Amino acid sequence: MKDKLQEFHSLQLAKGPSCTNTLLDLTAEDRAALDEALASPAITSKAIERWVGVRGQTWRAFSISRHRRGDCRCGGQDNV
Ligand SMILES: [Zn+2]
Repeated sequence: MKDKLQEFHSLQLAKGPSCTNTLLDLTAEDRAALDEALASPAITSKAIERWVGVRGQTWRAFSISRHRRGDCRCGGQDNV
């Protein structure tokens, strides 16, 4: 059962850089707020970088943008 898009899907997973999202050390409450912010187009990645920074974590805006595009190893979580 070969899907025409199967190769794209596997390449997508293979090339995705590791993502800081899974490495952040946040409370459950902060994690929920972050997930909401990530899903909100009104919140910029730069703002999220600063928010994460306030909590002593580092997640660069370009990496956040990549995560929001679904172009990272979290793979597909944000795919529409
Ligand atoms: Zn990610």
